[in-house]
Order: sequence, then structure tokens, then C-alpha cells
Amino acid sequence: MSTTVFCTKCEERYTGMNIHEAAKVLADGRLLDLCPKCHGPRSIRIEHKYPYPPEKSSEPHKFDVTKVNRLFTDEEAEKQEPPFDSMMFFMHEVGTENDYIWPVYWTKNRRGDWWWGQFPPVLTIDQLRLLMNERKDSANRTLGIRQTSIL
Ligand SMILES: [Zn+2]
Repeated sequence: MSTTVFCTKCEERYTGMNIHEAAKVLADGRLLDLCPKCHGPRSIRIEHKYPYPPEKSSEPHKFDVTKVNRLFTDEEAEKQEPPFDSMMFFMHEVGTENDYIWPVYWTKNRRGDWWWGQFPPVLTIDQLRLLMNERKDSANRTLGIRQTSIL
């Protein structure tokens, strides 16, 4: 699995960028800095490899994050016990017509740094509903992406 910031136009990858910070920018309805190479918009790309079917197991499935919903503000996330910053990634699989959702989270490691969670986040039904929809206090987050609401 790899998660990187990439250019949606020229596909240049930016491996040095912090995914948590990039996701927070997208969740706020802001845009990431434009690609310095071609000035195209940047987003987050996730690549997963699956073992089946075996003949395709070496080819990664590429998902572009088209929208991010976030459960808490920075201050609210810090106040959770333990600190917890959950988001919902809305993703499009490159080369297909398939859209997916992926609940993700960050928590603090032993050094007190935000760290990508390794397991699905533990959520209440109400929190899942919030992640699937717009927060009432959020800025406009459309990014040109249609609203998804299945709950
Ligand atoms: Zn570019």
C-alpha cells in the first residue's frame, strides 16, 4: 500500500508531503498547492495491491481521493481520549467507473506525533453519519465533486 500526494494532471508524485496535513486541507474545502512542474491540481492517491486474481496481483489498484470529510476540528481531535482524528475518504478508482469510501484516522504515537491508524476506526453510528455528510459548520467542500449520501 502506498499513499502519496500526486498531480492529477501530470501524475508527478510528492512523497515528502504529510498525508494528514494534506487530508485536513482537502477536508477544509481548500486546495493543495499546485504542481510546481505543470501547475495542475494535486490530490491524494492510494495504491493497494490485492492477491487475487493472481495474474493481476502485481498491478496496484489506484484510487484518487476526490473528497474528504472530517469528524473533528484540530482542537476537538486533540481533546479526544486518546487523541483521535477520523476522516472519510471518498475515492475514485483510476481507469474504472467505481467510487469507494474509506474511513481512516490518525491518533498520537508514543512521541505525541499524529500517526496513521492501522485498523478501521471505531465509530458510533452518529459519527459515521457525520463522516458521510457535510459537517454543519464546514465551509463549502464540493471541489467539483458530487455529494454522496448513503446513510
Ligand atoms: Zn503536474
